[in-house]
Amino acid sequence: MERILNFIDGELRTPVGETWLDVYEPARGVVYAQLPDSDARDVDLAVTAAQRAFPAWNALGREGRSDALLRLAALIERDLEGFVADESRDNGKPISLARRVDIPRAIANFRFFATAILHFSSEAHVMDDVAVNYTDRQPFGVAGCISPWNLPLYLFTWKIAPALAAGNCVVAKPSEITPYTAYRLSTLCNEAGIPPGVLNIVHGLGPKVGAAITAHPSIPAVSFTGGTRTGAEIARVAAPMFKKLSLELGGKNPVLVFADCDFEQMLRTTVRSSFTNQGQICLCGSRILIERRIYERFRDAFVERVRALRVGAPADAASDLGAVVSKEHMEKVLSYIALAQQEGGRILCGGERVQLSGEQTNGWFLAPTVIEGLGPTCRTNQEEIFGPVVTLQPFDGEADAVGLANATPYGLASVVWTTDLQRAHRVARLLQAGIVWVNCWMVRDLRTPFGGVKQSGVGREGGLEALRFFTEAKNVCIKL
Ligand code: NAD
Repeated sequence: MERILNFIDGELRTPVGETWLDVYEPARGVVYAQLPDSDARDVDLAVTAAQRAFPAWNALGREGRSDALLRLAALIERDLEGFVADESRDNGKPISLARRVDIPRAIANFRFFATAILHFSSEAHVMDDVAVNYTDRQPFGVAGCISPWNLPLYLFTWKIAPALAAGNCVVAKPSEITPYTAYRLSTLCNEAGIPPGVLNIVHGLGPKVGAAITAHPSIPAVSFTGGTRTGAEIARVAAPMFKKLSLELGGKNPVLVFADCDFEQMLRTTVRSSFTNQGQICLCGSRILIERRIYERFRDAFVERVRALRVGAPADAASDLGAVVSKEHMEKVLSYIALAQQEGGRILCGGERVQLSGEQTNGWFLAPTVIEGLGPTCRTNQEEIFGPVVTLQPFDGEADAVGLANATPYGLASVVWTTDLQRAHRVARLLQAGIVWVNCWMVRDLRTPFGGVKQSGVGREGGLEALRFFTEAKNVCIKL
């Protein structure tokens, strides 16, 4: 069976402890590879390599680093179909989605930050004829990057690209549930001319490898994307060490549908915002709030479209939904569907596992599920499910809509459907969320700040925000 290896100091390496974990293919429910069950010793080796590599990588300058990262982007693009197939096999997502979104976005992340760094400048503050201040932004050395399973290479590169462009070296940990494309990326680093030790990838479990990165005294900043509970644990360890933290966490995103919206466009997009990647995108809308006078019209049309979605083999171009990422996750989502029923919810469609035939007989597939009849305070409408499950709730007027939208501990993304421009501005202002989409969803400009409020996180990624996170600002004041 194939073994994924760590990438430390420019070499593919087995873990110090020589122990291994299984990697599953969700669509078939079988183990197809093994990954290192690394521990703090592997992280130590990676940090040492990163510290050693840092001065030369930083001294390479913005253009030298930019060139290296652009070469890496070009190599991913050269091997695009291999990355696409690997991502789909590892995660269960439709191959068409990996080809359209995941891998192109990983390439775009490298290209974006490789060029953004060339334009990165900082402020000067002139105090009349007293003094001039300038802000010097320098990389800090070794950055820790920890990423989740839902958009594996996409979110992994979203962190390491700005960290490296800014001049840091990186110790990164992809999710142990979807490690494959990060491994594949590591096999291209030497060919791209990334010097040994600049990017180190340590595979393994969160409480071992992730915890060792978080607690390592020589890693002064940690960028994390994942669940809110894990984010709280990372903050608990890192805060007393005064580390810089960027935490991109869970969500329970509302979609607000006003009666004056463009109904057809809203319907088409809302099917996507609910079920793309089996609902396993932190930005998916999971609570659909509908103005009461179009509630029935929406419900009936939406359910009809959702029933027509095809759950199928990820490699089949006709599949709208593939497998969910793991057996445990499938069981978690099913337990939330059972809970919704106990809480009085009515399942309008879906609600169960889908049994495919042939190679996918044992795959972890779920039917896209729509639930109505639940109030805002029940657990189904409060807790993140992170699967192909949405609830419908009616509202009366703007204030009610905003009240319902804001009535969870989360605040990542939200979507507003209206053709009334004034209302769009008013509602966008009032929503407690880091991201508001009006009449669209998942339209992403990499220059914009990305992140959440409340329990959806602290800090912002994207554009200059990321380059600022991965540098330390120093004010230099010179007397005139
Ligand atoms: P997770 O929190 O279980 O794991 C994320 C990463 O953290 C993994 O690499 C894991 O190994 C590691 N980890 C686990 N325990 C750790 C510990 N004690 N210390 C350090 N690292 C540890 O999340 P997941 O299940 O992989 O991903 C799903 C979650 O991610 C959902 O809650 C989703 O909303 C969230 N998410 C958020 C965003 C965003 O941008 N806000 C994007 C994608 C996913």
